[in-house]
Amino acid sequence: MPGEYLYRTAITRLRVSEEGAERLERLIDAWRVGCAMATDIAWPTIDDPQALQSAAYERVRESSGLKSQHAILVCRQVAKALRSIEARRQRGQQVSKPVFRSPTVTYGQRTMTVFEDGWVSLTTLGERAACQLVLPNDDDGYQQQYLENDSWEPTESTLTRRDGVYYLHLGFRRPAPATESPEHRTVLGVDLGIEHLAVTSTARFFSGRAFAHEQRELLKRERELQQTGTRSAYRTLRCLKARYRRRARDRLHRVANDILDEAVRHDCTTIAFEDLRGIRENDLTVTAVNRWAFRTLVSFVEYRARGRGLTVEYVDPSCTSIACSRVGCDSVDSANRPERGQFRCRECGYEVHADYNAAKNVGLRCVRSGHTSSERTGVGQCALQSGTLGPDGFTGRSSIP
Ligand SMILES: [Zn+2]
Repeated sequence: MPGEYLYRTAITRLRVSEEGAERLERLIDAWRVGCAMATDIAWPTIDDPQALQSAAYERVRESSGLKSQHAILVCRQVAKALRSIEARRQRGQQVSKPVFRSPTVTYGQRTMTVFEDGWVSLTTLGERAACQLVLPNDDDGYQQQYLENDSWEPTESTLTRRDGVYYLHLGFRRPAPATESPEHRTVLGVDLGIEHLAVTSTARFFSGRAFAHEQRELLKRERELQQTGTRSAYRTLRCLKARYRRRARDRLHRVANDILDEAVRHDCTTIAFEDLRGIRENDLTVTAVNRWAFRTLVSFVEYRARGRGLTVEYVDPSCTSIACSRVGCDSVDSANRPERGQFRCRECGYEVHADYNAAKNVGLRCVRSGHTSSERTGVGQCALQSGTLGPDGFTGRSSIP
């Protein structure tokens, strides 16, 4: 596992006094000045952090007034940006000198202290700013699990301002334990569908109703406007479609985040989806829009998974909806689906929501296949409603099959 660490990010709003806000604003301005100076010195050749630090550290400090650690972080960030620009250039893309405009500042272990009482102290240009972390009240706030658990240590974090509000993207890391190596994975299975956009093997259901409703509304309006046939009708239609896509993407983003949270909450290392290339090719109820939604959702999850220390794998989708997911039963029979949404095994009598049965099958198939690369010999477990299921039976706390 790269770096031998697992990384997580907890986003929290900050309550900042007027005095604190003034300090943070001066810091944000100085950070931009420092980045500009380091970029001038580095562009276009120096993309090694150590080399840039040697070349630019003094002048970054002089020009910006940043403290020592922040000047080092500026050099690191600029070097990182230049490195990714160089990679783009090598792929033949057009590149230009970067400009750092956004109101963000990077923090490291030496420039930030998180206290147990929910306060954080941040290095600025002068005195530190003490800010209060504003966390959700319910115990379910996912941030708590990192703040309250000593095994997670704060690491590189980002302060940012949006619409006049300060946020801290608190980075945490902990050594990746051996049990989370590919040989001992825990898998979250996810079934994608229409009635439910997604269902996890831990029995989280994400309704597809709003999605389907908006899709129907759009189709209705589309027919009306096409009948009208005027230019302005077509313009309206284009706007409607753009708005529909925006809203749908927002919704898919939220579902993707919730799936990731679910995986993290159950200590999963892997999220398994059906291979979309084969998804319900014969199912005529799956429309092009549904396929778009599945692809988009999966790409959102995949995009963010790496940053949270998770991998995404794909399994053969055939028969996941009609196969019995109870361990030891290998019934595969379309008669196992007496009614929509219902799964009842003709052989063993196992009865459960059909989409949940499918999600379990996706997770178990991933566990049993074990690997994606040849040298791995996977054992792995599937995360279920409570407890985990190994490839040959229960190894977890639960008695739910
Ligand atoms: Zn069965």
